[in-house]
Amino acid sequence: MAHSDCLFCKIIAGEVPSTKVYEDDQVYAFRDIHPKAKVHVLIVPKVHYASVDELAKKAPLTLSHMVEVAQKIATDEADGSYRLIFNTGKNAGQSVFHVHAHVLTGEVLPE
Ligand code: AMP
Ligand code: ZN
Repeated sequence: MAHSDCLFCKIIAGEVPSTKVYEDDQVYAFRDIHPKAKVHVLIVPKVHYASVDELAKKAPLTLSHMVEVAQKIATDEADGSYRLIFNTGKNAGQSVFHVHAHVLTGEVLPE
């Protein structure tokens, strides 16, 4: 269910603009507004879950699907290498509490 005060629910609904990279029945992927690599895409499940932990417990097949979509984006836009990041919790840098996978690729990434 969409959360009316959630930025990523609004992006999925088209109420906030985004640059779409990929979409299917389970997930939506769009370019991060402040890219940290040449290619920086966010993948979000269409159903609102706050964190990757909640997603793993309640919809593990959606979580594994997000990994497959990350691989597809990295293969389509780069050489198939990618870094996949789930910031989880405020002190780890999570600022939007609708789970999202950061896909970083398109260049040799710093260690
Ligand atoms: P996190 O800090 O892990 O919660 O990641 C949130 C990400 O969302 C950050 O990398 C932001 O740059 C990105 N972001 C915030 N607002 C937007 C937006 N309107 N469109 C695309 N990306 C956004
Ligand atoms: Zn949401």
